[in-house]
Amino acid sequence: MSEAGIDVVMLSVGSDLPYFTGYEAMASERLTMLVVRQTGDPVLLVPALEAARVPPGPFDLLSWGDTDDPVEMVARAVGHPQKVAVGDHTWSTFLLALQGAIPGAEWQVASEMTSQLRIRKDAAEVEMMRAAAEAADRALARAVSEVRFAGRTERQVARDFALLTVEEGHDVAAFTIIGSGPNSASPHHEPGLRVMQEGDIVVCDFGGRVGGYFSDVTRTFSVGEVGKEETEVHALVEEANRVGRSVVAPGVTCQEVDRWARSVIAGAGYGRFFIHRTGHGIGLEVHEHPYMVEGNDTLMQPGMVFSVEPGIYLPGRFGVRIEDIVVCTETGADVLNKADRGLVIVA
Ligand code: ZN
Ligand code: ZN
Ligand code: ZN
Repeated sequence: MSEAGIDVVMLSVGSDLPYFTGYEAMASERLTMLVVRQTGDPVLLVPALEAARVPPGPFDLLSWGDTDDPVEMVARAVGHPQKVAVGDHTWSTFLLALQGAIPGAEWQVASEMTSQLRIRKDAAEVEMMRAAAEAADRALARAVSEVRFAGRTERQVARDFALLTVEEGHDVAAFTIIGSGPNSASPHHEPGLRVMQEGDIVVCDFGGRVGGYFSDVTRTFSVGEVGKEETEVHALVEEANRVGRSVVAPGVTCQEVDRWARSVIAGAGYGRFFIHRTGHGIGLEVHEHPYMVEGNDTLMQPGMVFSVEPGIYLPGRFGVRIEDIVVCTETGADVLNKADRGLVIVA
């Protein structure tokens, strides 16, 4: 804070708060706010009915009841700062009230500072994410052997994946994308009522949380036998994924991962069908810094954790994506997901 000239950091809902305190606030109409000034103990203001959930920490816990004015209480704890950094996910209903109650301050998003800390995971964080990735891999292996695809809807199969995600060790299942046939060409397809059939490509992208940290993995299967182009496109994406992972090393820019993965796909004439960046950082959020995207010249550093997930999406026909989570280490990529990347045939 002193380096950045910030007088006070204010964190409400979002992942910065649990990162620094171990406490995850419920996103509700009642205000939660951690106030950190350069000197003195931080103050964590919570609704009275949430106080019992707050673990002990190096802050003064202040609770407010339904007849108190929490904005007023935060303003008093803050004093008269010149520069305020406020958590990115703070609701505008609170932010606007706080800006009125703390006049004359200059405001910026907290992530300008906090992302610099969160972007490098320590050993304990990496082990949590490894546990999450291994649980996701086990869920995938069981899906291949136990889940019936043909004759069932995407939604039914998504429910199976969510169940396997938890059974194999996640605290919760967080998201499940099952896109079959032409729906696989929509990267974030919402599993629906389409019934899968022989000859379908199925993109399965899912994740859950372990100790607050996310897994996120994608494999693309074929229901029975698929056509020649499906097989070729899948092999191309698999190669792009491999090349993308092979670039990972400290001192290399994030955009290089995207460029190399993309060059494989573009070289085969499918460039305009790779419609998203190659990857995103992951941790307490599914998507966080650093992003593997053209224009991001951030140098990779040991401890950065992110996805490598090239894809090809042919509208109205089919799509393929293959996603792994990797850790940048001194010696290159430590790939957390090890599940078979090939075009596995499911029933
Ligand atoms: Zn995505
Ligand atoms: Zn994913
Ligand atoms: Zn992802």
